Amino acid sequence: MLTTNTALILISAFVLVLLVGALLSRMARPSGDVAANRKTVLIDQVNELLPQTQCAQCGYPGCRPYAEAIVEEHIPINRCPPGGKNTITQLAALLGTDVPALDEQFGIFKAPQVARILEADCIGCTLCIKACPVDAIVGANKLMHTVMEDECTGCELCIPPCPVDCIILAPIDTTPANWAWPQPQ
Ligand code: SF4
Ligand code: SF4
Ligand code: SF4
Repeated sequence: MLTTNTALILISAFVLVLLVGALLSRMARPSGDVAANRKTVLIDQVNELLPQTQCAQCGYPGCRPYAEAIVEEHIPINRCPPGGKNTITQLAALLGTDVPALDEQFGIFKAPQVARILEADCIGCTLCIKACPVDAIVGANKLMHTVMEDECTGCELCIPPCPVDCIILAPIDTTPANWAWPQPQ
């Protein structure tokens, strides 16, 4: 026959074993929050390697959605024409994968460029402003528009909507701030 003290000790020990078991089990697998945070950090890292042109050539509406698709859906890393080989190489190093060639179904790599408006021809329709993903165009209805070149990513999205074809693309002037080694062919 167990004494009251012995019974209490046994019950306490049993409860302690249950608590320790639950604690160890929780420590053995990351919580949902921790896993979600890791995914968000990785998406941020992938996004930082993308060129932020926001051109949608990858099939996603911007660089961040493409970064999310790479991390969450394992979409190939070679669909960003503005980033070209350099971006693919950096993404592969981050994700520990092979370095695939750029998938040219999504476009070809071009030297950095900016949009310029032939201002004498502009009719002030504002369609280019609505198309620009980075608010690089200033102007008002029926007034001449202009591109702020420091903000322009060269995404080309303003060109198709212009009804009078007065937007052209021009190579970026090379300065010490934007010069880079040419990509190997
Ligand atoms: S193609 Fe590249 S630069 Fe253009 S939106 Fe997609 S990730 Fe961004
Ligand atoms: S001005 Fe045109 S090319 Fe430049 S970022 Fe805006 S939409 Fe793209
Ligand atoms: S779309 Fe063309 S015409 Fe219309 S405001 Fe822009 S540059 Fe001017």
